[in-house]
Amino acid sequence: MRICIDPGHGGDDPGLQAFGITEKNVNLDIAFKLKQLLEHNGTGVVLTRDKDETLEPAERVERINQSGADYTISIHCNGGPVSAKGVETVYGHNAQTGKELAESILREISNLGIARRRAYNKLNAKREDYSFVIREAQMTAVLVETAFITNPSDNHLLSRNPFRKKIANAIATGIYNTVQINEQKSSHWALPFFNQIKEEGLVQDQYPLEKEVSWGEFSMVLARLIEKFKK
Ligand SMILES: [Zn+2]
Repeated sequence: MRICIDPGHGGDDPGLQAFGITEKNVNLDIAFKLKQLLEHNGTGVVLTRDKDETLEPAERVERINQSGADYTISIHCNGGPVSAKGVETVYGHNAQTGKELAESILREISNLGIARRRAYNKLNAKREDYSFVIREAQMTAVLVETAFITNPSDNHLLSRNPFRKKIANAIATGIYNTVQINEQKSSHWALPFFNQIKEEGLVQDQYPLEKEVSWGEFSMVLARLIEKFKK
């Protein structure tokens, strides 16, 4: 498997700047950390940029599409009013796998304590807003808005080296979960049971069936089941 990692912005385009940190540098650092983790697990990695380099949109898309990657992950920080915070993931035209990958990464990053906002599709975005990367990529591609650089508490997390490592780790786990889900799609004996509880609304996300369940997840499923019986 090969992953293309696209650290957003670079060179003359700094991205967002707030509380003394600059998005292009945060994105690149998370990208390096993710690359190291993926390669450690035997996954091939291609970066669209490995330095502080200005990339024209067409050049960025060309590097993605010539990478030979199975998935592309574009890394960004979000911005908005000072109170806005949390993680968002955006998927492109390869909708079903993209949605699963986006939801998986969203879940893993929100498990770090960053507020869970949403995984959503942004097909009609204009070229200048960076969603062109996931729209024009020829493979499954997800843009990760890791956290809000403009929010003091999110910014504090983004500014810390150990937390950027945790974000990279969460993205890697999100990728491997999705790959496992795709592999088990046609073959896993328990898939009909999982699909049934998903249809009944007891779980909302797709999970790798071999993964351990936490007490939090177990309680959530039981609570939803109890609600159903009460009705
Ligand atoms: Zn950005």
